[in-house]
Amino acid sequence: MRAKRPRREGLPVTGLPPMDSRPAPEDRATAPGRPGDDLQAALRHGGVAVSTWNLACGRIEAGQGWKTLLGYAEDALDDRIITWRALADTADLAGLLESINAHAAGRAASFRRDCRFRARDGAWRWFRVSGEIAERSPDGLPLRVTVVMADVDDFHRTEDRARIAREAADEANRVRSGFLANMSHEIRTPMNAIIGMSELALGTELDAEQRHFLGIVKSSAEALLVIINDILDFSKIESGKLEFERIDFSPRALVFDTVRAIALNAQEKGLEVLVSVAPEVPARLLGDPTRLRQVITNLVGNAIKFTEQGEVEISLEPVATMGGEVELRCCVRDTGIGIPLDKQSVIFQAFSQADLSITRRFGGSGLGLAICQRLVEKMEGRIWVESAPGAGSRFWFDARFGVQAPAQPLAGGGRLQGQRVLAALANPALAAQIRGILESFGAQVVTVLDYFSALDELEAARNFDLLVADAGLLLDGDAALTHAWRSRPGPGALVALHIFPEHRAAATALRGLGVECHLVKPVSAEELLDGVALAQGDHASVDFVLEDFTVDQALADARGADPATVLDILLVEDNPINQELAVRLLQQAGHRVSIANHGAEALECFDRGRFDVVLMDVEMPVMGGFQATEAIRARELRRTWVAAVGQTGAAYIIALTASAMAGDRQRCLDAGMNDYVSKPIRSAELHAALARACAEKGLPTPRQPAPGALASASAAPPVVDIAAADEDLGDHALVLDLAARMLAEWEGWITTLESALVARDTEALGRGAHTVKGLFAMFHAESARKLALDLSGAAKAADWALAEVHLGNLKEEMNRVKPLLVRAVKVV
Ligand code: ADP
Repeated sequence: MRAKRPRREGLPVTGLPPMDSRPAPEDRATAPGRPGDDLQAALRHGGVAVSTWNLACGRIEAGQGWKTLLGYAEDALDDRIITWRALADTADLAGLLESINAHAAGRAASFRRDCRFRARDGAWRWFRVSGEIAERSPDGLPLRVTVVMADVDDFHRTEDRARIAREAADEANRVRSGFLANMSHEIRTPMNAIIGMSELALGTELDAEQRHFLGIVKSSAEALLVIINDILDFSKIESGKLEFERIDFSPRALVFDTVRAIALNAQEKGLEVLVSVAPEVPARLLGDPTRLRQVITNLVGNAIKFTEQGEVEISLEPVATMGGEVELRCCVRDTGIGIPLDKQSVIFQAFSQADLSITRRFGGSGLGLAICQRLVEKMEGRIWVESAPGAGSRFWFDARFGVQAPAQPLAGGGRLQGQRVLAALANPALAAQIRGILESFGAQVVTVLDYFSALDELEAARNFDLLVADAGLLLDGDAALTHAWRSRPGPGALVALHIFPEHRAAATALRGLGVECHLVKPVSAEELLDGVALAQGDHASVDFVLEDFTVDQALADARGADPATVLDILLVEDNPINQELAVRLLQQAGHRVSIANHGAEALECFDRGRFDVVLMDVEMPVMGGFQATEAIRARELRRTWVAAVGQTGAAYIIALTASAMAGDRQRCLDAGMNDYVSKPIRSAELHAALARACAEKGLPTPRQPAPGALASASAAPPVVDIAAADEDLGDHALVLDLAARMLAEWEGWITTLESALVARDTEALGRGAHTVKGLFAMFHAESARKLALDLSGAAKAADWALAEVHLGNLKEEMNRVKPLLVRAVKVV
């Protein structure tokens, strides 16, 4: 009879029943489920042992094959369960006991766990231990257990090896990305120095040969930087490090801005650039605008690179909408050299180009399309090409985005219903596009490709309501078309289409001829409609506030509440030290600063926010300051009436540049910037420029930094600030030395300026004013510097009356500066 024991729910985790000396309750020779000897032998060969445990007596009563699996003779170890347990790894054993307990308590049909056992040779081997309770007592206690041990050592070792290899690969990837991040910085910094320095050297006096050599250095460095950026980007994608954002953006603005930023290259080659965004494209999307921009830039860049004449056209349309998402299809078409069929799939592979001779002619890394393909795949789309040699190419890609705001129907098309329009546009594709837009609003359109035909049409039919024409055609033949249009009776609405480089000169000439409405190509349907409304004198129906420049009400309120003006400033600067310096100076004055690391990021910021002032570095990787300014201005000028009505919406751009050559200010102004601050950045100059920006934009004068924080920038700037000059140059003796030299030449400067004015010598007066401006800047003589600046401006404009006034003021201010410099020098 067995002693009665309390019923247990399961076996204690602390272990199987201890080995004890009590006799087995039913010590049978053959336990249930015990395999015969032949079978045991066969199993053993297969690395499996089956045994029966008698829990009551703590012995393995049948099946000793487990000993053989561990390298022991069957009689080498005793048959106690505790002996078996002693060979198992403690942690693995605890897991096994847990599994057995779950089974014993009825929570699992069997038990199973992989455990390590110490074999006779001292090595650990993996076994899968599984089984089930074979017999229970009437009150449910497990009495006998069938246990199967299977050798799974090879499997575990392979898995371990795979895990180790995976960990090593992960580590290598981490090291690689870290290395790439470092290298990216390390490579870009000297590259920027090479580009910046050659740019600076190109601004000095050079003979033709030197200029040619340096030009090659600069353009090669720029090309190399593009390749380096591509390789770094590609490596990032390959190692899965490229993160995708999901933010709100306007696809229409993105496509137009992206194309405008690079359209200049095409327009310089004489190519027409067309953009059409279908009206059904949602107004706002959720996705990664930077990556979409990157794909479009790449495809359009290639299209321009491989096309010598004709046009490049970019179109965007939705192909499917599903549950809050839209699939867009973008097509970039060109009339270039085309790609043979057998090369069309190869070009999407990394480092591959359709034709090596072409590569030599065109340059490039062969990575652009490989990057595009991966980016598009990340946007759940695909990319493909249709092309034939000599017949141009069409690159297509699909990409999926969230819909943030649906498409908005275009308002104001009604005015074109039944109107007769003459479209004089030199490019047939552009003529077809403009005709399509106008006809979709019910206009009757006659298109011509040159100004002779336009004159013929005007001769034949005088009842046109509107003329839409290329600025070039309007000016051709002594502006014959413009004069003919103006002199005919009837309505005279006229819209001129410009390409950007010709814009300033052509716009001025056309304004002189009374043409007021100018649009910059490529134009959208909305812009064309707005342009027509303006040309027909309907200013009221045009929304003057550009979508992306909507004035932030909160900011306006804040201005009203707090007389200390806070400006929203976009700092576009790639050098972290300069970034920090500028941010500190601006924040000390209480301004809000956003940072963009280069021109392309600045355009991104424009998509998202609104800024009072943009501080724009000139030399930057990816996109330089001039290019970014052109892109921003092109965007603003797509509605040139902003300029005509007043610069309310236009960004005030201040160049930050290290190149302090004469004529640099003019270069910045020519590039469409409003002002110029030279680097290294100095507080007084920076804040003076901000004050000028506010004056020009009609905003209250911004708060200056707290007194003491920056001595040179208090509310009433000091006449000179020797301490600040000391701080700039870090050498008091040097400052005094310079002051003494300046005093020695004092009268000489005045004579030079006066005689240049008398002689009406623009160049001499400009140069003299520029030089004294630099000297006063060195001593933080802010008013004198500003007056010298005004004088040089008047000299450049050959405005002699104004120059006389400025020189008078400057001399007066110089009389205030001189005694202070004299005192500083004497104190020593
Ligand atoms: P790359 O930097 O060489 O331009 P891409 O991956 O962007 O690298 O392009 C790979 C190759 O595909 C190019 O070298 C060129 O041979 C071909 N290709 C790409 N776009 C065009 C196009 N629009 N017209 C003709 N050939 C093209």
